Amino acid sequence: MVYTLDPRTKRLGIMGGTFDPIHNGHLVAASEVAHRFALDQVLFVPTGQPWQKEDHKVSEAEHRYLMTVIATAADARFEVSRVDIERPGPTFTVDTLTDLRKQYGEDLEMFFITGADALSNILTWRDHEQVVEMAHLVGVTRPGHNLQNPGLPSEAITLIEIPALAISSTDVRARVARGEPIRYLVPDGVAFHIQKHNLYLDANPNPDPTIVGIL
Ligand code: NAP
Repeated sequence: MVYTLDPRTKRLGIMGGTFDPIHNGHLVAASEVAHRFALDQVLFVPTGQPWQKEDHKVSEAEHRYLMTVIATAADARFEVSRVDIERPGPTFTVDTLTDLRKQYGEDLEMFFITGADALSNILTWRDHEQVVEMAHLVGVTRPGHNLQNPGLPSEAITLIEIPALAISSTDVRARVARGEPIRYLVPDGVAFHIQKHNLYLDANPNPDPTIVGIL
């Protein structure tokens, strides 16, 4: 299905992430940024099938996309885009923003939201000057993290601490591998999807087969 943006949308949040899996911290962050910037909508954009990350194999894009759809279904401000998972090759934010601009038109103010950790490397990103021209950047981070502008003009970037980002995808995957509960860390539908498809069990090379139930 091709999602059509509400034509009245003028201020669009673009929440970029791997979402492996999406968790309640991501949802709180999107909601908080939507409130602070008076956004009309937030489009969650799961990254394409990447490169193997340093510490783990990333789940198939289709699983990450479906979990993102499940997690955002109940909030009228949230939608999910397949733009990054359908573009072959690694995901570059300049391509994400260019494709969304083409899809949704020029008359749109874009706010690219992602983890402040990821944004701290923005000066190494492909065509980062263009990224900064196309969207205001919003870096969200967990408590205790050192929030630092990665070297951009202060009007180009906003950094926000989100207490709920104490939850992390890494921790959720590790808990699943250990058979520990993830209820209240992720939406119930996401936990059911993880359980149904046996995701993240290989995050632990020696899972305890006697531990069952992550809900
Ligand atoms: P990552 O390295 O997997 O994540 C870094 C940190 O940021 C993690 O702590 C992660 O926590 C957090 N994070 C990631 N996305 C988040 C979000 N939307 N909200 C809150 N926290 C978030 O980052 P990534 O997922 O690969 O990349 C994030 C975005 O930046 C993607 O849209 C990606 O395409 C873009 N990016 C672009 C370039 C480029 O253009 N060259 C390079 C790198 C990244 P969790 O694991 O809990 O989410």
